[in-house]
This record gives sequence, C-alpha cells and structure tokens, in this order.
Amino acid sequence: MLWSGWGDPAKAADLPEPVRRLLHDMLGVRPPQAPAASFGEVRLPAAALSPLVLTELRGAVGADHVRFDDDARIRHTRGKSTPDLMRMRAGDGSDAPDAVVLPGSHREVLDVLRICAGHRVAVVPFGGGTSVVGGLVASRRGFAGVVALDLARLDRLISVDAESMVAEMEPGLRAPQAEQLLAGYGLTLGHFPQSFEYATLGGFAAARSSGQASAGYGRFDDMVVGMTVATPRGTLDLGRAPRSAAGPDLRQVILGSEGAFGVITSLRLRVRRAPAERVYEGWRFESFAAGSAALRRLAQEGALPTVLRLSDETETMIGLARPGEIGALAADAGCLAVAGYEGAAAEVPVLRERVAAVLSGLGGVYLGPEPGESWARGRYSAPYLRDSLLAAGATVETLETAGFWSALPRLYDAVRLALQASLGSPLVMCHISHVYETGASLYFTVVTAQSADPVAQWEAAKRSANEAIVLAGGTISHHHGVGRDHREAYAAEVGEVGMEILRGVKDRLDPDGILNPGVLITPPAGSV
Ligand SMILES: Cc1cc2nc3c(=O)[nH]c(=O)nc-3n(C[C@H](O)[C@H](O)[C@H](O)COP(=O)(O)OP(=O)(O)OC[C@H]3O[C@@H](n4cnc5c(N)ncnc54)[C@H](O)[C@@H]3O)c2cc1C
Repeated sequence: MLWSGWGDPAKAADLPEPVRRLLHDMLGVRPPQAPAASFGEVRLPAAALSPLVLTELRGAVGADHVRFDDDARIRHTRGKSTPDLMRMRAGDGSDAPDAVVLPGSHREVLDVLRICAGHRVAVVPFGGGTSVVGGLVASRRGFAGVVALDLARLDRLISVDAESMVAEMEPGLRAPQAEQLLAGYGLTLGHFPQSFEYATLGGFAAARSSGQASAGYGRFDDMVVGMTVATPRGTLDLGRAPRSAAGPDLRQVILGSEGAFGVITSLRLRVRRAPAERVYEGWRFESFAAGSAALRRLAQEGALPTVLRLSDETETMIGLARPGEIGALAADAGCLAVAGYEGAAAEVPVLRERVAAVLSGLGGVYLGPEPGESWARGRYSAPYLRDSLLAAGATVETLETAGFWSALPRLYDAVRLALQASLGSPLVMCHISHVYETGASLYFTVVTAQSADPVAQWEAAKRSANEAIVLAGGTISHHHGVGRDHREAYAAEVGEVGMEILRGVKDRLDPDGILNPGVLITPPAGSV
C-alpha cells in the first residue's frame, strides 16, 4: 500500500490530457504549487515510549513484533481519507504512533492491553488502515504514548461449519485473503467494498462496513453471528445461536465500536456458496427520481439482484458510474443503473427475469451487459484515480448517508446545496448502492479545485454537509463509521442519553480510556 496514496503503485492511473483540460476549464483546477513530500521528508514526532514499556511489549509479543522504525510508524499514520492523504503528501506525520505492535493471538492482545493500561499508553487497533473517518487517530493528551495494534498476524481461517454455513476467521485477514481461503471450501462472504484489496475482516466489523453486493449478501454486520473480543477488563465471547431472545444483543455494542470498546480477535461469519454464475448489466432511467422509484419497488417486492446501484445524472454523465471512464457518456445519458446477479446457474435467469419485469415496467431501458461488465471491471479503480486527481490539484472526496425513501429527495438536495454553498461550484455526483425496504444510502463524490489550504477547505465543506445531513434527517454514516470526523454529528444523532450509555460502556470495558481515545466518543474535557 502506498504510504501517501492508495494501493499498489503498479496500478496507478494516469489522468489523460483531455481530463486535465476538463478539470481546468470546468473547475479551475491548477497544478499544486508545492510538490508532494517524499517518504524521507515526512516529519515525525520523536517516539515517546519508555524503554520499560518497550521491554514489556517485546516480552508479550516477541521482539520482532514491536517496531518503531520510521517506515512502520509512517505506514500506520492515520487512514485513507482525502485529508489524510493530503497531510501525508504535505509531509505531516504528526499523528504517527510511537510504536507498532503485532500480536499473534488473543492472549497476546490481552497482554498488550494490560501493559498499555498499566502505563497509560493509548492503543489504536489497526486493520487495513483504510478508515476514511479519522478512526485511526488517537488523542495523545494525558497518555504516555500511542501504540498502533496491527492485527495482521491474526490471519487464520480457524474453522468452517459447512452444515451451519458459518466460518470462524481472524480479524487481520484482508478481504481477498479471506475470500481465497473460503474459496477452498466453495464458499464466499460476498463482501466487496471498494476498499476490498486492503481492508480487513476486523475493520469491517468494527466500522460496520457495507459492500457493493450488499443487496444480495447483506451488510457485514448482517454476516457476524459471533465474535471474541479482548478488552482491558477481559474477554467477551458473544453469539451462540443464529437468533436469540436472551436480552439485548451485545454483539451490536461491539459492531461499529471502532476499537473504542475492545479488540475483535475472532469472528464467526455467515458464509454462502460461491456463485457459479455472475452477470452484470446496465439499465437507463430518465431521471434519478425515476430510477430511485424503480429501486424502491425492487426492494419492497423482495426482487433484489446481488448488486444494485443507480448513478444520478451528473455521475452518469461524467462516467464515474463506470470508474476510470471519465467523460465516457453523453450529456443526455439519463441515469445509469447497474444490476448484478450472482448465484447458482438455475437461479440467475429466474431472478433476472423478475427484476427486468419490474425495471422495464417503471421506465427502465435495458442497455445490455456492457455497462455492467465495465462497472465490474473498474469497481476497484476509483481510489487510484483519486491519487492522480490530487496530484493534478483537484480535491476529490466522498461522503455518504442514508435515509428513509420518503426523506431521500430532501437529503439529496440538502447535501448538494451545502457542498455548493461551501465550495463554490464543485462537481457533485451521487449514487445509490445500498437499498432496503424502507430506504437507501446516498453516496456522494465531490471534485473541486484545491485552495491554498485544501485540508481546511474540505473540512469546512464536510462540516456543512454533516449539518445538512443532520437537519435533513439522514444518518451521519451508512457505512464509513464515526471515527473522529463524525463524532459531533453522531452525538446529536443518538442524543445525550445515548451518549451516556456509550460512555458507560466505555468506562466499564476500558476504565483507563486507552482504547482509541477520541474515536467514536468525545474525550473528557481537557484532552484533545
Ligand atoms: C478507497 C476506499 C474505499 C472504501 N470503500 C468502502 C466501501 O465500499 N464500503 C465500506 O463500508 N467502507 C469503505 N471504505 C472505508 C473502509 O474501508 C471501511 O471502513 C473498512 O471497514 C475499514 O477496514 P480496515 O480493515 O481498513 O480498518 P481500519 O481502517 O484499520 O480500522 C477501522 C476502525 O476499526 C478499528 N478496528 C480495526 N480492526 C479492529 C479490530 N480487530 N477490533 C476492533 N477495532 C478494530 C480501528 O481502530 C478503526 O477505528 C473505503 C475506504 C477507502 C479508502
């Protein structure tokens, strides 16, 4: 993974000259004045951990698994939001952890938490490092140091219960590794977020991720039937039956807790048979409203394809509906919907026919397989494009929300207006990619010319968008989580009593407050 960008450098996507011209003419994008910092130019704070802490940590996980070299520290600094990348490109390593610790077992995680609690060292659980909400930046104040707890060594498929269709897997498995291991049993999780190449199972659970095939396979939190969690107070082992009426479901306390309550050390996950057939195809709708109505009908009639997404007019026109194909479609392209079907050879045609009847009955025009296949080929390429856009002087960032169907048009307008009011005339594109009987998510992509202080420029725009989401009745996040960036809006969403419950849980599980301080819950007054 690139330290100041996304993914495999070999897959870097160059911006074609016509796109550069378009960015300049349409948005006034100009090349940044200062070149991006090199790896050697990143400014790191002096590592703060005492020799005693380092000795104890080495004793717990082995000397080879405690690192405090610049390379390890830089690669565990923040996540992969656009402001995160901008700060790294500016050589700002001020949020680097003092050390990176790689435990190899649940027992070792418990030991690390005990040592860190004893010395008041903050611990940031680290999966794939793809958080886009500031979920990997701990508040330092009041702590003797910060350790990134990298779960990469917890990467085993522990067991497969083929009768129950449950696999127990460790949290440090990246999604492709997990899929590869399950493929050996003819199984799949079916979780394919755009961060698929790097994100881990633990991160999916901790941040309540949702993948591109959520219509068919469900969200990641739907897949978690059980888990083991290491907390500073000991072990939690949750989930012993497919459903239970034995009190509140404590799994839900950990799902979405973003490392602030405990460290997930194993997951029992519902798996499905790997599909024999995969078909992706395109549909055109006159407008976003017409397409949304068709998606709603599918969700409410229970005729959902595995992948279902609808781009608004701007996203369709710009071509980001099919990542990597900027400018591919004409201005009157309407709105592109992609429907994908994954399943047994006998099931796919039956579902396709059912879905096609609904879509064509509601004004959809069938475009054949090409737009769908093209989307499937480019589904992981947009983050690479972001790096090239940043280098060219454009800010490109995404944000997302969800709401009930009746509130969706208002939410859509409110976010667009807020971004326009803050940024002048940015390009704002949107798509729906997760649908439910009662509502859907909206996923926005924003492109604008970088100002002299692009981080402050984006933070102001994001604040406006957050306020608009809260006012329009949407949730502050459908699948990116809370982190630090959504903390205030989340507090408004759950209210004072809700926050008291969360603080109570935090205080009981993590009495010294060492776990991801400042993430999810606003830290006590006096800390940052
Ligand atoms: C380009 C890009 C595309 C993305 N696309 C999607 C998408 O399509 N869908 C989606 O849902 N998200 C998406 N994301 C966001 C991100 O990938 C998800 O939030 C993902 O779940 C994070 O997984 P991770 O392993 O990288 O976790 P990290 O980023 O390492 O951690 C995320 C949070 O979880 C905590 N954590 C990590 N592991 C554990 C653990 N074992 N126990 C307890 N806490 C833990 C961390 O402390 C942090 O607060 C995208 C991000 C990027 C950069």
